[in-house]
Amino acid sequence: MSRKLELVVFDLDYTLWPFWVDTHVDPPFLKTSDGRIVDQTGRSIRLYNDVPQVLEELHKQGILMAAASRTGEVKGANQLLQLFSLDHYFSQKEIYPGCKVNHFQRIQQRNGIPYQNMMFFDDERQNITDVRPLGVTCVLVQNGMSLKILKEALEKFPQ
Ligand SMILES: [Mg+2]
Repeated sequence: MSRKLELVVFDLDYTLWPFWVDTHVDPPFLKTSDGRIVDQTGRSIRLYNDVPQVLEELHKQGILMAAASRTGEVKGANQLLQLFSLDHYFSQKEIYPGCKVNHFQRIQQRNGIPYQNMMFFDDERQNITDVRPLGVTCVLVQNGMSLKILKEALEKFPQ
């Protein structure tokens, strides 16, 4: 069977940004007049540096993207995706607690793309262990998503 990468799924906490949105920061978030994103206490919130470029690169290649997070802070996570202007990259967002297999089943049901044509980036080994048996190509992310990790994963994707 030939495989073609059609969809890349990203975890959020410690994959796109360096914190747990339900623990380490205080929603709601807002954008300051000088363009920073801050939480309720005024603390600056940032993405991992390469994240906007990573998403833009996949977008240019015509690859769909989705977000899958197990956080309970659904509102805060969605708000950050909007404030960081990342929202438009994701054709689908599955953000709620539970096993990530559920998130992937919903993603698969909605877009009909075979698991074999999906790639998944996540920092938690347990999520990788749960999702891999579906047939998704899973990549464990250490120290946040980067262009280097993306490049290596794209080169290794079996086709
Ligand atoms: Mg995570």
